Formats: sequence, structure tokens, C-alpha cells
Amino acid sequence: MSTRMLTFVDVDQQMPQKRGAKARARDFDEIYDEFLTEEAAKQASRCSQCGVPFCQIHCPLGNNIPDWLKLTAEGRLEEAYEVSSATNNMPEVCGRICPQDRLCEGNCVIEKGFNSVTIGSVEKYITDTAWQNGWIKPIEPRVERDHSVGIVGGGPGGLAAAEELRKRGYQVHVYDRYDRMGGLLIYGIPNFKLEKEVVTRRVERLEKSGVVMHTNFEVGRDASLAELKVKHDAVLIATGVYKARDVQMPGIGLKNIVPAMSYLTASNRKGLGDDVPSFEDGSLDAADKNIVVIGGGDTAMDCVRTAVRQGAKSVKCLYRRDRENMPGSMREVKHAEEEGVKFIWLSAPSAFLGDDVVTGVRAQKMRLGMPDASGRQSPEPVKGSTSNHKADLVIKALGFDPEEIPTLFGAPALDVSRWGTIKIDFRTMMTSIDGVFAAGDIVRGASLVVWAIRDGRDAANAIHDYIEAKAIREQLIAKAS
Ligand SMILES: Cc1cc2nc3c(=O)[nH]c(=O)nc-3n(C[C@H](O)[C@H](O)[C@H](O)COP(=O)(O)OP(=O)(O)OC[C@H]3O[C@@H](n4cnc5c(N)ncnc54)[C@H](O)[C@@H]3O)c2cc1C
Ligand code: SF4
Repeated sequence: MSTRMLTFVDVDQQMPQKRGAKARARDFDEIYDEFLTEEAAKQASRCSQCGVPFCQIHCPLGNNIPDWLKLTAEGRLEEAYEVSSATNNMPEVCGRICPQDRLCEGNCVIEKGFNSVTIGSVEKYITDTAWQNGWIKPIEPRVERDHSVGIVGGGPGGLAAAEELRKRGYQVHVYDRYDRMGGLLIYGIPNFKLEKEVVTRRVERLEKSGVVMHTNFEVGRDASLAELKVKHDAVLIATGVYKARDVQMPGIGLKNIVPAMSYLTASNRKGLGDDVPSFEDGSLDAADKNIVVIGGGDTAMDCVRTAVRQGAKSVKCLYRRDRENMPGSMREVKHAEEEGVKFIWLSAPSAFLGDDVVTGVRAQKMRLGMPDASGRQSPEPVKGSTSNHKADLVIKALGFDPEEIPTLFGAPALDVSRWGTIKIDFRTMMTSIDGVFAAGDIVRGASLVVWAIRDGRDAANAIHDYIEAKAIREQLIAKAS
């Protein structure tokens, strides 16, 4: 069956229906509805099937986007799913939360004047349809291998590696210090961007596929890295980055100034039905409070939008650069603005106000000066220009650094960079310790889900090569002796 593609000249870009800002601010459900089949096909048919697909080049997973768009346009959804899942372990997660404006869609060649193909929404639609139709089954490896791999961290990086290794028949064990698998997909990213069911069905599928999940297992407390090495033929570290960056300024010790992850984890736990004393007693609940969030990344956007949904009186976001220089996705900023969040651009906190409990934030006006070593313009203070902002709860979303993994894991031989990220040989994904690999945020620093998946897949391939090579070496030695 052949369907007309290149319809972008006649068919306008159309995202799935977005719920109105007022309605969505009352709950934590995802904000986009699902595409209807004919809408998905119509949007997919806008693809120009260009010879050099920049969307694919700019997707960290190298997804075969034009192919699955064509199959969707032709109504061949099961095949579209096969193609899409061949390069991505969680297409429906990436379709929901990738910053497509900076990746695939931002590089679509029909963009100029016509608006890009809605790649992320079609990707989500294909895989959600696959789940609904029962096309996604537990993995049945063709061969079972005796070799086992231990994965520390059940976030997207660790889970992608687990799936790839299990497909090859390895005995895979995932260790995570949380009580649920999923990492930041569960405890960081809020429901309105990614409903938890989407993550848990992935984890359940892996369990049904034979991957052994060890929750509440903290490496460093419940086992050292050396102990895991003895148990497994290879170990992958995919622990993410969790040390919250802080600010030092007058008033920092006041009550009700909290780190973003504590705030978001409490809200996510509440949504999952857990008992959360720090939420019940009001300390991590924004209801009826004036909220100030400090920061301009994805985490800050998630905090402001969570506060809106909890019924905050007012929500402000202080960011020291301007809108164009925000690290967060522009789409998220737009959603937040629609939901009533006020952005105070070019403003950096200079003091927290109050006696015992915070009552406000003093902000210093900034301007953008000369570019720094990274090429970004550095913010510098505008003398004599400050403003005060009322706050009953201040949320610090200033970014994350790695924890001290060599010390925590009792592994001083594990080399880290000057930022504390684990050093690997990028050709082999191996750390400075033989048989120990690393992937995801703990290697890159705080990054994106799609990059963690990519790294997890690369690490799985590298681990397979390592174990195979070792087995051959051992056979040769046995033969020779
Ligand atoms: C609030 C927030 C919002 C974000 N929004 C987006 C977004 O919209 N789009 C996007 O692409 N990215 C987003 N990101 C970034 C994205 O979530 C991360 O890049 C991604 O989750 C990294 O995956 P990972 O597997 O490396 O680590 P993680 O997801 O952090 O998983 C690491 C896992 O390791 C476990 N662990 C850590 N130490 C130990 C130990 N000692 N023993 C056992 N287990 C351990 C942790 O409990 C965790 O489950 C967001 C991040 C945050 C914080
Ligand atoms: S994985 Fe992300 S970047 Fe790649 S096609 Fe999907 S939405 Fe785009």
C-alpha cells in the first residue's frame, strides 16, 4: 500500500489535543490527549521523506524516523512499532518527554515556514497503540547464558541496558536503592509529563522477561562494588546524579527553603498513594502558599507546574538569564506560562528574608555580559537594582552533581572526572576497573532520558563484547594448559 507523503504543503502541523490550562491545573494527568488513528496518519504523512533525514541524525538514538512515519501514514502500525522499537527501549517515554524542539523536530527540514512533523507525538502514539493491542510481549531469549550482569541503578539507562542484555540471554540483576524501579522517571518527572503507569508497565515487562529486580538495595550500604564484581561477570553503574547544588547567601538557614528533588519526590510519592509525612504536615505541599522556584532547567519547570497543581496562591520562577538562554525546554516554559506561572527573568536570588521561617526572596537584577568558556553569555549584576518577592516556600532547582561514588562504593580505584562523573573509555564504556562499566547521567552529568537510553544500549553491547572476549580467552588458556 502506498500513501501520499509530503503533505506538509496542504496539512498544517497539529499536536494532539491539549487540555485547557485551567482544567489541567486541577489534576496531575498528562496534558495531551492521544492522537486519533486518522490524525496520527495525517500528521505522519506530512514527512517529506527527505534523502538526508536531519531528524534522525539529531535523535540521540538514531531512530529511523522517516520509515516509521511512512508506515504510520500507511496504517501499518505494527510494522511501525517494530521499526521504532528496534532502536529505542522506551519510545513512548521519549515521545512524551524528549525536548523535541532541540532534537528531532527542531531539525526537521520542512520546519522553515511549515512547522516540523510532530515526531514525538507520533512516536508515542505508535507505542501506546502497541501496548493496547498486546504487541509488546515479554522477552524470550533464543539462548540462555550462564553469565550474569549486575546493574546498579534502575533508571532509564540501567533499564535499557537490562533489556538489551536479557535479549541476548544474560542473567540480569538490577539493584536500586529506591523502593520502585524507574529512577527519575518515577520520582523526579511529574505525572503530568509522564504518567507512572507508562513506566511501571515497562518494569513489569522486564520482570516477566526474567530480569531480577532488587529494590531497596543500596550499593555502598548493602554491598560494595567488589562484592558485586564477585557475584557477576560484569557490573554496570547507572546511578544518575543526585547531589543537589546549593546557594550560599543571607537567610539560607531559614525554614521552608527546600531542594527540588525532596519537593518533587514527595509529590510523586503522594500521587503513587504512599504515606508522605512531609507532605501531610504541609512542609512540602504548596497549597495556599506563595511559591518561589529558583532555577531555569527542566527541574524548575516541573516544580512550578507541580506547585500550580497543588493549589499554590502564587508561583514565581526566578532565573538569572533570559528566556532565550534557559536550559529548560521552550515547550515547558510555554505550558507553565499558560498555567499561570510568572517568570522573573534576569533575576538571581541575593538573600532569603524572614526571621525563623522564610517570608520572601530578594532578587538581584542581572544583565547578560560577555560569553564564558562554554560560549554562553555570563549573567552579571545590575548595580542598585533589587526586588523582593513574597514566599512561604522556596524551592531550589539549581542542578545536580554526582555523589562521591568511589568513596560510597568502597572503590578508590574507580576514576572520576574533576566534576565527579565516572570516567569511561568511550569505545568500550568501561571504567578504570576491569569489568565495570558506566552509563547515563553518572557519566555525562545531568542530561536527558534519551541519552541515558542510548548509553544503556551502548553499554549492553560493550558488556556483551567483553564477556564474549573473556570467555574465548579462557577457552584458549584451558586448551593450552
Ligand atoms: C525533575 C527532573 C525532570 C526532568 N525532566 C526531563 C525531561 O522532561 N526530559 C528528559 O529527557 N530528561 C529529563 N530529566 C533528566 C532525566 O530524568 C535524566 O537524564 C535520566 O533519568 C538519567 O537516567 P539515569 O538512568 O542515568 O539515572 P536516573 O534516572 O537518575 O536513575 C538512577 C537510579 O540509580 C539509583 N541509585 C543511585 N545510587 C544508587 C546506589 N548507591 N545503589 C543503588 N541504586 C542507586 C537511583 O535510585 C535511581 O533509581 C529530568 C530530570 C529531573 C531531575
Ligand atoms: S527519541 Fe526523542 S529525539 Fe529521538 S525521535 Fe523520539 S522524540 Fe525525537
